[in-house]
Amino acid sequence: MTQLLITGGAGFIGSHTSLLLLEAGHSLVVIDNYDNSSPEALRRVLELAGPGAADRLVVVEGDIRSAADLDKAFAAAPSGQPIEAVIHFAGLKAVGESVGDPLRYWDVNLSGSRHLLKAMQAHGCRTLVFSSSCTVYGLPETMPIGEGAAIQPINPYGHSKAAVEQMLADLAASEAGWRIARLRYFNPVGAHPSGRIGEDPSGIPNNLLPFVSQVAVGRRTELQVFGGDWPTPDGSGIRDYIHVMDLAEGHRAALDALLAEPPQLLTLNLGSGQGHSVLEVVRAFESASGRTVPYAIVARRDGDAACTVADPHLAAERLGWRTRLSLAEMCRDSWCWQQANPHGYGG
Ligand code: NAD
Ligand code: UDP
Repeated sequence: MTQLLITGGAGFIGSHTSLLLLEAGHSLVVIDNYDNSSPEALRRVLELAGPGAADRLVVVEGDIRSAADLDKAFAAAPSGQPIEAVIHFAGLKAVGESVGDPLRYWDVNLSGSRHLLKAMQAHGCRTLVFSSSCTVYGLPETMPIGEGAAIQPINPYGHSKAAVEQMLADLAASEAGWRIARLRYFNPVGAHPSGRIGEDPSGIPNNLLPFVSQVAVGRRTELQVFGGDWPTPDGSGIRDYIHVMDLAEGHRAALDALLAEPPQLLTLNLGSGQGHSVLEVVRAFESASGRTVPYAIVARRDGDAACTVADPHLAAERLGWRTRLSLAEMCRDSWCWQQANPHGYGG
């Protein structure tokens, strides 16, 4: 049993990973300020994790930019033991919002991460799994994207993630003993197969899958497909979608590797290596849900790439991890969650 601190553990990826880690027998402290999540997510995580899990989860409502909140979290392990590793999900992730309010992104994503690293130093914890993003690659010229591709973000969100990655590299170079994984996620979608936890975006979803599921459930009338003239076989954009349960497994594998191996800085893509177009996703969702998803092809969205697909080989080699769940399973589980919770955790 390892004592873990999970920042942003009430969020979409954090809640699914927290469940998996509880099921694996670990003991967790979650710190979250519920900026983009609900305490209900962690209540359901405990319900799914089963009897006894409540003794291994402590939730601290707090902000990663507050040294006092972080101190509280580091002292809160259910066993009273020191925190051995941190998984750092807390952050802001909406590209469009980051263009409109870049300072908020630099504040939460960069300054929040700096506060966390200071707290880790103060509490003698030097093992960290960090949520990075394929956004750090910007608009790469070669596909699939390997970890060695140039870091060229094209929006403030991507810049803030690239800056944290650099800060982690600088820290690892300055001080021996750090075990750090920088995980670059591609497009996380889906939900726990129970339909009890899932993605609950506030307002109009920016991402494709939540939008498609809200159309299928009748909350929105029509999907806008951003561009039908991309240089792809059907003209719509291609992405590498990854089921959130596969992603959660990727975190567990990365954590296990960090704890078992000598100190290192590990940088890995977490993706499937398979691309799917927007229109393929629409069709897969229609078959999973039995509903029609009306759509209209509109202009391209600013800053979009035609095609973004991971080269996932390094994660397979270093962690023995690869994705297992298909697009059909991603749509099935998103639909199960959406149908059971048409208004997310709010009812
Ligand atoms: P999410 O918004 O569902 O989860 C983030 C969590 O962090 C939320 O619970 C939020 O309340 C919390 N949080 C935000 N600011 C905080 C603060 N200052 N202090 C404490 N808690 C705070 O997002 P997610 O999809 O679960 O993403 C998790 C991480 O993965 C983020 O860092 C995101 O940038 C990264 N990521 C996400 C995607 C994606 O498409 N979902 C892709 C690549 C990378
Ligand atoms: N997309 C779309 N309509 C939407 C949302 C997204 O056509 O309402 C497209 C988008 O242009 C991209 C794909 O769906 O080709 C995935 O977009 P998302 O925002 O989910 O992920 P990202 O662009 O960040 O990879």
